[in-house]
Amino acid sequence: MTLKETLSFGVGTLVNSGIDEAEIDAWLLLEFVSGIGRTEYYMYPDRELDFNICEKYKQLILKRSNHYPLQYITNVQQFMGYDFYVNESVLVPRPETELLVVKTEKVISEKKKCLLNNQSVKVLDMCTGSGCIAISLKLRNYELSVSAVDISNLALEVARKNAEILSADVCFIQSDLFENVSCEKYDIIVSNPPYIETGELAELMIEVRGYEPVIALDGKNDGLYFYRKIIKESVSFLKPDGVLIFEIGFNQADSVSLLLENAGFKTVEVIQDMSGLNRIVVGGI
Ligand code: GLN
Repeated sequence: MTLKETLSFGVGTLVNSGIDEAEIDAWLLLEFVSGIGRTEYYMYPDRELDFNICEKYKQLILKRSNHYPLQYITNVQQFMGYDFYVNESVLVPRPETELLVVKTEKVISEKKKCLLNNQSVKVLDMCTGSGCIAISLKLRNYELSVSAVDISNLALEVARKNAEILSADVCFIQSDLFENVSCEKYDIIVSNPPYIETGELAELMIEVRGYEPVIALDGKNDGLYFYRKIIKESVSFLKPDGVLIFEIGFNQADSVSLLLENAGFKTVEVIQDMSGLNRIVVGGI
């Protein structure tokens, strides 16, 4: 088959399977499997594609047509401009979460003003998954001291691999929330914990409910299980003027704010994302 025929086979198959961004995905998979870029494609659309590559492409298109996430096939997702390695052990980093990094950096710059010259701001990323938050923070703010926690050893393997590929010096800790975190105090604890209500999981896209790790999504009965625990336990791990910063689901701002207030956090701020949805809650001790 020619390049053009192969691509149109890919697009057709994905459209028929109801894949939202069929054209983009079919193209990205062709590029992934053949290494052929846009320019080359448009110059030689009628060139024959190597038989083995073509067969491989068909296999990947078949996978994607079953709603298997594109990022688990290509093993990559961009986040904050960095290429993160991902596989089925971790949630695929979401663009909304970039806002969490940016807002955390605002808090970091305020904290920096209060610290003495040679002290570094200490950040803990709770439920790090692929490590996207912790690693991006470290890469963009070299002087930070960053630790990152996850309960899953498989997720930590991915996070460590990302830290190595991107040359980020982050300390990873295997721990069920704060259980194995030594009693150090942090300036900032940041977290994008699992926050979907168990009953809502079945409503998610097949890509998410069928293939992403349920442990990274499931916030139990009311979706607030991890906020409750992290808020309660973080108090002993935050410095006196420490800050806790969360990504939240669009309908969780009131409940998470209340949890923070009840735990004695003095300042609570809710921040909207670009779609105007409540996305971030910041609590100051
Ligand atoms: N912190 C990771 C992310 O934002 C993983 C989040 C999770 O597993 N709930 O992508």
